[in-house]
Amino acid sequence: MSASLDHVMRITERPSPVMVKGAGSWLWDRDGKRYLDFVQGWAVNALGHSPRVVLDALSAQGERLISCSPAYYNEPMARLAALLAQASGLDQIFLCNSGAEANEGAIKLARKWGGRHRDGAYEIITMHGSFHGRTLATMAASGKPGWDDIFPPKVHGFRKVPLGDLGAVAAAISSRTVAVMLEPIQGEAGVYPAGDDYLRALSALTKERGILLIADEIQTGIGRTGRFFGFQHAGITPDIVTVGKGLGGGVPLAALIASGPVSCFEYGDQGGTFNGNPLMAAVGCAVVEAVARPEFLESVVSNGTYLMARLRALAAEQGHGEVRGRGLLQALALKGKDAKKVSAAALDNGLLVNAPRPDSLRFMPALTVSRDEIDEMLKLLTVSLGA
Ligand SMILES: *Cc1c(COP(=O)(O)O)cnc(C)c1O
Repeated sequence: MSASLDHVMRITERPSPVMVKGAGSWLWDRDGKRYLDFVQGWAVNALGHSPRVVLDALSAQGERLISCSPAYYNEPMARLAALLAQASGLDQIFLCNSGAEANEGAIKLARKWGGRHRDGAYEIITMHGSFHGRTLATMAASGKPGWDDIFPPKVHGFRKVPLGDLGAVAAAISSRTVAVMLEPIQGEAGVYPAGDDYLRALSALTKERGILLIADEIQTGIGRTGRFFGFQHAGITPDIVTVGKGLGGGVPLAALIASGPVSCFEYGDQGGTFNGNPLMAAVGCAVVEAVARPEFLESVVSNGTYLMARLRALAAEQGHGEVRGRGLLQALALKGKDAKKVSAAALDNGLLVNAPRPDSLRFMPALTVSRDEIDEMLKLLTVSLGA
């Protein structure tokens, strides 16, 4: 029995297959066609589709307690908060349901901190091309082209500068500025790394000027780049960090992470019905425990290096452009091909790969992807790119 698609709100252009089953790096549609999945729920399924540890956590916690309201403490909430504090070197954790919600929390917390410690400063400097979510405030924070004047009136209090231009940040800081917010690698823009030197300089600048540094690690966190957090490559510690996507290994889970001194919400400032619910938090614990293992992160590094070498070889062979990214978040710049068309051809050929820009393909496989699967992806991609 096939359900009709007529009542699914049209919010994006979806291809016709209806997905019914996933296992590891593979996904099946309802006609039984199999796809090698290098999208993975949008860099969400850190451990692949339906991994045993997530299934076990869901069933064990589901038997015990699914929800008890955020008005009460629960054990998985406390365990996940402790794990994230340990992994980040920060102190206070608020669990929530989506990346946008985590970033809204980060914006609110920065404004609260500005009200208390910086004479009411509220403005946040963000980057051209950045993506921070789809709520009104996070859309205003984002530097996505075309988003400047949709859904007016816009939430104000964001100032945009070009990524990588430290002088522009320094010049934009005023008495109204409370924070700088950025992604260590711009994911939705097409995988553009901020660069370790720039992150270090930005960290020093924000400290010197007495403002906060907010790292949006929603795409780069949870092992995606080969370290637990993307900022760790630069050896810095931001004041506020947000995670989402990979944190739940496929279930909706995100977190706002703050240093002790910055964590200044008063009772009533922040909340939400499903926040810190034990079922999702238990899954988050299982994912974080799996990903934080040194040997797991080493495998992300080595498979990332392998993927990059294979993509570079393909690019050299076929005359395409650069390969950007780190770990298992990479993009290939195409020359003379429309990435959307290549992505559509790949779907027909049984490969899921995303086109974040008309000239780039993005690769965000499960962090558990194997070399054989990377080889298979290259085969399917080569066919999809045509002669
Ligand atoms: C996906 C993403 C978000 C938004 O997360 P949602 O869970 O879709 O709300 C925010 N920032 C970055 C960097 C992202 O990649």
